[in-house]
Amino acid sequence: MSAAAWQAVLARLDDAAKLVDLDPDVHRILRSCERVLQVSVPVRMDDGRVEVFDGWRVHHDTTRGPGKGGIRFHPEVDADEVRALAAGMTFKTAVADLPFGGAKGGVRCDPTALSLGELERVTRRYAYEILPLIGTDRDVPAPDVNTDGRVMAWLMDTVAMTTGQHQQGVVTGKPLSVGGTRAHSGATSTGVVVCARAAFRRLDLPLAGRRVVIQGFGKVGGPLAFLLASAGMRVVAVSDVGGAVLNEGGLDAHELAGHVAAAGTVAGFVGGDDLDPDDLWSVPCELLVPAALGGVITPAVAAQLEAKVVVEAANGPTTPEAEPLLEERGVVVVPDILANAGGVTASYFEWAQAKQAYAWDEDLIAQRLRERMERAFDAVWSRAEVLEVPLRRAAFALALERVASAIQARGLFP
Ligand code: NAD
Repeated sequence: MSAAAWQAVLARLDDAAKLVDLDPDVHRILRSCERVLQVSVPVRMDDGRVEVFDGWRVHHDTTRGPGKGGIRFHPEVDADEVRALAAGMTFKTAVADLPFGGAKGGVRCDPTALSLGELERVTRRYAYEILPLIGTDRDVPAPDVNTDGRVMAWLMDTVAMTTGQHQQGVVTGKPLSVGGTRAHSGATSTGVVVCARAAFRRLDLPLAGRRVVIQGFGKVGGPLAFLLASAGMRVVAVSDVGGAVLNEGGLDAHELAGHVAAAGTVAGFVGGDDLDPDDLWSVPCELLVPAALGGVITPAVAAQLEAKVVVEAANGPTTPEAEPLLEERGVVVVPDILANAGGVTASYFEWAQAKQAYAWDEDLIAQRLRERMERAFDAVWSRAEVLEVPLRRAAFALALERVASAIQARGLFP
């Protein structure tokens, strides 16, 4: 998957380069990553053995600011996957107009097989190994698949212990007790709602009473169901790894969350009927939000979709092969690099607060998040109108213009 992921990023870059008539020199620069650090992470396991894990930290392009991107702990992560994700962050931070470049990190390990102590030792040794690349003004990691605030706190502590400097801005997504920001956890879902509202407004569709289907009920999908229901939408179907539920009258998001907390899955929820997860895609709705995995909207799924709008909360949920079909069917797709940028925007706020050593009020954070997401959406929508292309191609074109103009303004060193 990972070599394909890198090739897919290059294909998007090449397409956007044509759309904006990109300078060939800048194009060549962006077809490579600035730096790819591979590290080995030896860790003493609980049984006394030493296990050695592979890890990476990649900077794709840091012209617009310090690298920004999560750290993923996964048994299948490899260099190409991390390169692809780092490049994705270059585009995402540019679409959201945040002063960051694109970075990503990963450790090839199975965190479900690690004890808490082993997880901490993996994190701390990995942090030590990538120390030359990270720093408040160099590269700022955040949580990603299988990492969380706890891992970020260990990372920050390792930097402090090894450098003697307290750098609160070296990571984001930290616990509140060590400088995390309020509103970080719900920021991605909030951004998805802003995009859904804006897309419906542009299409002259009222939000109230319209039906929504969500795949995934985790950190993004859970709060999202609640926020969309609060906005007056009817959440008619939700799926997760354990199954799916349907209620055409609308699922009660609050009660569903309670059921998931107890049962571990949406399946069996008494406020709806169990549904075969494969049938989720053909449930009639106006809005579909994939908020689980990549690669789920295949051509076969695209052919069944009833939704008018797809807002991609997950990263890469639509396969490149499915895109033309969705376009043909008139489905408006708000692409991941725009739709789920609320998370990295909240990370930007956390970083800015760390640099100021001053915590902003929660209302200010919420207001700024909304404003930034609305601005990003409007910029992508306008670009799509001018270029007469779908939102995804427009988002990449807009991002590329911003990165290219920064590269041109700074010039080539030496
Ligand atoms: P999570 O692990 O908290 O939740 C994932 C959800 O997907 C769970 O409900 C899980 O049961 C479900 N799921 C897993 N396999 C499934 C399957 N085969 N069918 C149906 N559902 C399945 O993850 P998350 O943080 O909510 O992230 C979801 C997506 O959003 C990912 O693609 C992630 O990369 C993307 N994303 C998340 C954030 C964030 O702030 N958490 C930011 C940007 C993008």
